[in-house]
Amino acid sequence: MSPATPLPPIARPASTYVIALGSNRRGRHGAPEREIAAALAMLGDVVARSPTVASAPLGPSNRRYANAVALIETSEDPAALLVRLKQIERRFGRRAGRRWGSRVIDLDIILWSGGAWTSPGLVVPHAAYRTRGFVLAPLAGLVPAWRDPRTGRTIRQLAQLVDRRRPRD
Ligand code: ADP
Ligand code: MG
Repeated sequence: MSPATPLPPIARPASTYVIALGSNRRGRHGAPEREIAAALAMLGDVVARSPTVASAPLGPSNRRYANAVALIETSEDPAALLVRLKQIERRFGRRAGRRWGSRVIDLDIILWSGGAWTSPGLVVPHAAYRTRGFVLAPLAGLVPAWRDPRTGRTIRQLAQLVDRRRPRD
């Protein structure tokens, strides 16, 4: 008998996601930069990532942020991925229901190769990313030609718009 031909895997098309990672509090891995690195290692199939950049605090939290963006591949739909991201956040000690406060890790779904998605508690593309330079600047280094499905603008264009509106001081 000839060796069995391996069966093809059940077709579950992989999606690509852009995940934004943020931290402004030391955790058990150390400084915010170390927390970002630890969270990246838990995300799974990371196909590309930006450098981790430190930026000024946003909102009434007087802390330094570390931010990065990563491209991951997974067969999860956006809702399933968000559940997993929230589990990772909890493992890092994040408490739910606190916006802007100190957080060891914040994981947001920014973009999805499938386009737009809306379900209870989840909007993809992320509702605020188009005005966040700390997401768009590193993202423009990774996927400048990715088109935002809502505005039709490329990431490069969105990054330039934010840069022009809020010049660096
Ligand atoms: P933010 O990330 O804006 O600082 P939170 O991390 O506290 O705020 O998120 C608040 C809620 O936003 C989450 O519980 C989640 O259900 C919801 N949410 C909606 N869209 C997204 C998205 N694209 N990625 C992550 N969370 C999202
Ligand atoms: Mg979040």
